[in-house]
Amino acid sequence: MKLKYFITFLWILVISTLPAQADFARGVVIRDQQIEDVFGKLMDPVIQAAGYPKDAVRLYVIIDPELNAFAQIGGQIFFHSGLILQSTVEEFLGVAAHELGHVVGNHVSRTVGIGGKVMTRSLVLSAVGGALMALAGSGEAAMGAVTLGMHVGERSFLNYSRGQEGSADLAAVKFLKTAGYPTWGLKKFLGKMEKKTYLSSSMQDPYMRSHPLDHVRMQALVRHTPADQPEVNAVLREGYEWVQLKIRAFVEPPAKLLRTYRDLKNPQHLMVQAIALHRKGQLGDAVSRLDQLLLMRPKDPYMWELKGQVHGESGQWTQARKAYETMRTIGLRTPLNDVMYATALEKTGKTPKEFEEAVTLVQAALSKDPMIGGGWRLLAILHGKLDQKGEMALALAEQALARGDAKQASFQATKAQKFLKKNSPSWIRAEDILSLGKKSP
Ligand SMILES: [Zn+2]
Repeated sequence: MKLKYFITFLWILVISTLPAQADFARGVVIRDQQIEDVFGKLMDPVIQAAGYPKDAVRLYVIIDPELNAFAQIGGQIFFHSGLILQSTVEEFLGVAAHELGHVVGNHVSRTVGIGGKVMTRSLVLSAVGGALMALAGSGEAAMGAVTLGMHVGERSFLNYSRGQEGSADLAAVKFLKTAGYPTWGLKKFLGKMEKKTYLSSSMQDPYMRSHPLDHVRMQALVRHTPADQPEVNAVLREGYEWVQLKIRAFVEPPAKLLRTYRDLKNPQHLMVQAIALHRKGQLGDAVSRLDQLLLMRPKDPYMWELKGQVHGESGQWTQARKAYETMRTIGLRTPLNDVMYATALEKTGKTPKEFEEAVTLVQAALSKDPMIGGGWRLLAILHGKLDQKGEMALALAEQALARGDAKQASFQATKAQKFLKKNSPSWIRAEDILSLGKKSP
């Protein structure tokens, strides 16, 4: 953990504590393995074409109907859900490659943080403490959501200059070509934006304000978009379709979704219906749709995950655990999924062995992916159940640190040291947190 985590003090992620079936609030960042896997498969060749290892760049979705996308130089790219819902896979790839162009070009000079402070160094998206998944009671959204403490798109990230826009476009075209993708998506997306430039600025999408568009840019893109273009393959295209439908199912009014997606022989419609019914609190109907869907796709781990989520958010942790166990048997064992399964272990476990297994899973998950909402809190609860007071306080210190709460982090680290063996790895970690606390603003 470095000092930069404290710089993100200004960039606090507040964990959303959504009750069961709550709709996602605007500004929430969602985590979902299916979405992240599809984005990964789509973007890996583009990221590699840009000369980065594939894990160096990650894409996240923010719930927001306005069209926008932006990058942090740390390598995170954020998409508004509205942009995904309104873009084809080719347009999505074009915009993503363009954002990657900003990452590669280090386009950050005018990045302004909260409170108007210019941030000259990387804003690392802070790891999130607090909990969605680990909250007591029924409110457990497994489509882990973290709320950004502000409306991110416009205020914290910068307006790029026209020169930076042109260079990001050219980079995007180069990456897409190398990756074997069509390049016309970016041009088409910007063409749609261009039509809106005639609207009053309040009606324009934030993307237009952050990524200024002009004729020179469009002409350059036209020149770089040959008529003969490769196609995005059918598997990737279908994956993107599932992502669009999943997001749609979580953000649009359930009644409208139930009217629109009515074909009970179509697995995608069944998924949309299950999510809509779950949001309406109709657990029995939601589960019956999922069971129908799973008869058609028994090896689809994401749908088992969804079943676990629906049960867990409804407080049925025994059934949730069973669904997660099937998901794991099929092979979905990512840090995000491990934390979900560990949550079910915490809720249903009766023996120390189960809690210890959960601790191991959560620790490993957080070391690989610190951006899992609720991870540290879950760890603290598990250590509490195992009567490990020092480790529990240390987990709470990590949670506070991730939130940017230096005072609370120091308080918990001091408490942890009272229980931990001097010079043990955990004690040393608590010492590190204390010294970070002293350096923080
Ligand atoms: Zn741009």
